[in-house]
Amino acid sequence: MPEKNAIQATNIFSVMSALAVQYKAINLAQGFPDFAIDERLAKLLYEAVQENFNQYAPMPGLSILREAIADDFKMRYSVFIKPDAEITITPGATYGIYTCLASILKPDDEVIVLEPAYDSYIPNIESLGCKPVPVSLSMPSFRVDWQRVRAAITQKTRAIIINTPHNPTGSIWQNEDWNELANMVRDSSIIVVSDEVYEQLVFDHARHYSVLEHKELRNRSFAIFSFGKVFNNTGWKVGYVIAPEFLTNGFRKLHQYLSFSVNTPAQYALAKYLTISDRPKVGELMQAKRDYFLSLMADLPFTMHRKSTGSYFQTMSYEQISNLPDIEFAEWLTKNYGVATIPLSPFYADRTDSKMVRFCFAKKEETLLRAVERLTALKDI
Ligand code: PMP
Ligand code: GLN
Repeated sequence: MPEKNAIQATNIFSVMSALAVQYKAINLAQGFPDFAIDERLAKLLYEAVQENFNQYAPMPGLSILREAIADDFKMRYSVFIKPDAEITITPGATYGIYTCLASILKPDDEVIVLEPAYDSYIPNIESLGCKPVPVSLSMPSFRVDWQRVRAAITQKTRAIIINTPHNPTGSIWQNEDWNELANMVRDSSIIVVSDEVYEQLVFDHARHYSVLEHKELRNRSFAIFSFGKVFNNTGWKVGYVIAPEFLTNGFRKLHQYLSFSVNTPAQYALAKYLTISDRPKVGELMQAKRDYFLSLMADLPFTMHRKSTGSYFQTMSYEQISNLPDIEFAEWLTKNYGVATIPLSPFYADRTDSKMVRFCFAKKEETLLRAVERLTALKDI
């Protein structure tokens, strides 16, 4: 069972995935797709190796990839990003977030984290000798309570971490949230670290607002992305960080000594793939999976407080089934019903237990069907 301090010996994703293997459970826990990637992307990776893109890439990333990203953002968001000065390719977004923080924080700085929060943020902040300042999202809407965020700011606040679409709740920010944030930080030196890895996974005609679209905030923000989430290849671990030149310079100063560069064949394949215009629409694909999963779950005794509008995830309350603490409930469900989920308490610094678990619906229909068939026995409990 995970320990109570922020830096756990084994994080909840590894714990639940290992338990899923041990009990031959269906893994709706850790967030990763279980279906094949677009064959064209697979072929491009092979082509990269054949074309001998097999040595170190330049430190900021292959220029063809950074240019393709800049074109993609111009097309999708009408924002202009300088590929040379503002984009750095990273070995995944987790690394990107840590390196952003490491490049701006000094010991004793404070960083505001909106909870529930992706589990790497707080250990990252603590490992840099800094203080995480958690602020809870409102329940059950999972919207930001701006009064509480304002109250958490001190002279020592150096950064705030944002995540939209949000893991684990599937909520997304509205444009007014960005305006609230801009008003709040205007007269400070607070830097925004905006984790937007699920930017293309938004549903029901909702729209993702990127920090890069906000003219004022953009000048003080890092925006972090992951190809894994949009091209269904989480195991490639390739992401990128977009930031104004002064922040990018600081970022690269560290990056050159932490990783230096990122898997070259993958960068080549991603660059070429970005230029293909008829790529599958991952938002539509995931929305169909969410809808299918929710239709299957409709009769089960889980309560949905809020329908996911983005990400891979749907959170649900299990109060009608059990009063076990959430980690124990997730273990019990895996062992007895063969379905692994993620409890929400590890997403809170104080391990708040709201009796909820997170389901990942980024799976084949047959996987979702088999999982829910197993859970159907809960109706008789
Ligand atoms: N941020 C959030 C909110 C995530 O869910 C993930 C998924 N692991 C990441 C960052 C990290 O992405 P990556 O796999 O590219 O490191
Ligand atoms: N982002 C994924 C999740 O939230 C995977 C995280 C991980 O394995 N570290 O499940």
